[in-house]
Amino acid sequence: MKFKEGDLVEIIDKKERVFILKLKKGEKFHFHLGFIEHDQIIGKNFGIKIKTSKGFNVFVFPIKKTNFILHMKRGAQIIYPKDIGQILIYGDIHSGLKIFEAGGGSGALSIYLLSIIGKRGKLITYDLRDDFLEILKENIIRFFGEIPKNFILRKRDIYNEGLEKKDKNFDRVILDLPEPWNALKNVDKGLKRGGILISYNPTIQQIIKFKSELDKLRNYYFEGMFEILERRWKIEENSVRPIDRMVAHTGFIIVARKY
Ligand code: SAH
Repeated sequence: MKFKEGDLVEIIDKKERVFILKLKKGEKFHFHLGFIEHDQIIGKNFGIKIKTSKGFNVFVFPIKKTNFILHMKRGAQIIYPKDIGQILIYGDIHSGLKIFEAGGGSGALSIYLLSIIGKRGKLITYDLRDDFLEILKENIIRFFGEIPKNFILRKRDIYNEGLEKKDKNFDRVILDLPEPWNALKNVDKGLKRGGILISYNPTIQQIIKFKSELDKLRNYYFEGMFEILERRWKIEENSVRPIDRMVAHTGFIIVARKY
């Protein structure tokens, strides 16, 4: 595969700093190592090492979603890749699914879901804040080049307004809300039997409250609650050990199945 105009690419320098750009003929990308001409990349094979105007070597790769979401514009806090990974696995996300998500936030999770469900799948995302919805749309358009046809984005308060009538028969419901228990009865109406419900929250009080409301519904099998610790290591000739800093806490993930 070759880089072409319109592609998103990542530039990675010697210190592992990542810069993201959209290729356009004749343009230059200026940064602390001088500049790169987009024409040095367009037409080349995926995965190259090039020199900046100041003679520094940098890598150029096709965009990877982990880097895109970590560097994109943020309104609300995003779900981190380590947690998204587990949501995708425990939510058993695959192509063709109809998924409901609230709140949309900056769209980190939405980008992964849309990439996986494919054209036969559908993603319905609610958020109640105009400013966040604008950022979410911008991020989706930058990543996919357009708003995908199978992506339905609504400004709606899932606690007080509930689901819109036509939003129903979901295979999955994924909640990243400050008070997910207030959304529970509403999203339950839209989730199919056999469907999977996931809720993501940073504090244990939120998890406990959600779990006790979930138990009251009496039609969910509780699969579990967990957190993910990811410890990175450095691998250098005379020093192979964990790096000294780590993201100590992001959030807890609850998984339940409807019967
Ligand atoms: N999962 C997102 C981040 C979501 S942050 C990501 O990965 O980028 C939580 C979002 O929930 C915020 O954008 C907030 O506006 C939205 N929200 C809060 N209460 C809501 C409600 N009652 N209905 C819909 N969205 C809500």
